[in-house]
Amino acid sequence: MEGNFGRPGHGPARGDARPLYGQRALVTGSSSGIGRAIARALAEAGADVALNYTRGEAAAEAAAAEFRDLGVRAVTVKADVSREDEVEAMFAHTITAFGTLDILVNNAGLQQDAPVETMTLEQWNRVIGVNLTGQFLCARAAVREFKRRGPRPEVSRALGKIICVSSVHEIIPWAGHVNYAASKGGVMLMMKTLAQELAADRIRVVGIAPGAIRTPINREAWETPEAYASLLKLVPYKRIGEPEDIAAAAAWLASDAADYITGTTLFVDGGMTLYPGFESGG
Ligand code: NAD
Repeated sequence: MEGNFGRPGHGPARGDARPLYGQRALVTGSSSGIGRAIARALAEAGADVALNYTRGEAAAEAAAAEFRDLGVRAVTVKADVSREDEVEAMFAHTITAFGTLDILVNNAGLQQDAPVETMTLEQWNRVIGVNLTGQFLCARAAVREFKRRGPRPEVSRALGKIICVSSVHEIIPWAGHVNYAASKGGVMLMMKTLAQELAADRIRVVGIAPGAIRTPINREAWETPEAYASLLKLVPYKRIGEPEDIAAAAAWLASDAADYITGTTLFVDGGMTLYPGFESGG
C-alpha cells in the first residue's frame, strides 16, 4: 500500500488508497516556499486544496493548475491572514468551492528584522499580526466549520486537523528578530491551548517547527557558499532542509496515521535544536 500512511484496513473504507482522499484542505501562504510544497504533498495524498496568497497570483494559479493534474480540485484565494474580514471571506470562498474543510495548514508568515532599539511598532505589529493573529483567525474559522459540519468518518477519524507552522524559534531565542521569535513562541502555546480545548471534539491541533529550509524567506542564509557553510555550523545533519522535508511531515500529520497526535510540535530541523555548539563535547 505504497503512499498510504495508515495501516491497511485501518481507517475509513473507500476505493482510493491515498491517505487524504476526499478531504479538503486550505494552506495559507502557499504560492511559494514551504506552503506550496505542503499544498502539493496534500494534493498528492488525494486532498482537494485551496491555495491562499497575498501577492503572486500567477504563481498560485500555476500551482493550482499543476495540482489539478494530480486529479484533485484546486482553487486559489487571495487574503491577508492578519485581516479578520479577509480571513472570513477566504473561508467562505473555500467552503463554497469544496463544500467543507477538513484540514487547515497555518503556514503564512514573514520576517521584519531589526535590533530592538530600532524596531518600529509597525514592524512588531505586522509580524505578530501575520504570524500569530493570522493563525488564530484562521484556526477559529476552521473550528467553526468543523463543528458546523460534524464528523465525516468516511474520510477521517478526526473532526478536523489544524497544523501550525511555527519555527525552531518557538524555543530558540533569536537576537535581532524579537518580533519573529515572540510570534513563533506564541504559536506554540496557541497550538497547545487549542489542542487541549478541542481534543474532546476530536479536533487535532499540531505544530511543525522547521529549521533552516531553502526558501525565499532566508535566501541570504544559503545562496552563497560562504553563507551556506556558516549555516551548516547550526545544523548537525549537515544539509539545509528542503520544502519537501516539511511537506512530508505535514501530509503525515494530517493523515489518520497520526490520529493520536495532538498538542505537540514536530521539529523538522536536521538537529538544529540539539545544541550544535556541544557537538564535539562542548
Ligand atoms: P516564503 O516567504 O516563501 O513563504 C511565506 C508565505 O507567506 C509567502 O507565500 C507569503 O506571500 C505569505 N504571506 C506573507 N504574509 C502574508 C499574509 N499577510 N497573508 C497571507 N499570506 C502571507 O517563506 P517560507 O520559508 O516558505 O515560510 C513559510 C512558513 O515557514 C512561515 O511561517 C515561516 O515563518 C516558516 N519557517 C520557515 C523557515 C525557513 O527556514 N524557510 C524556518 C522556520 C519557519
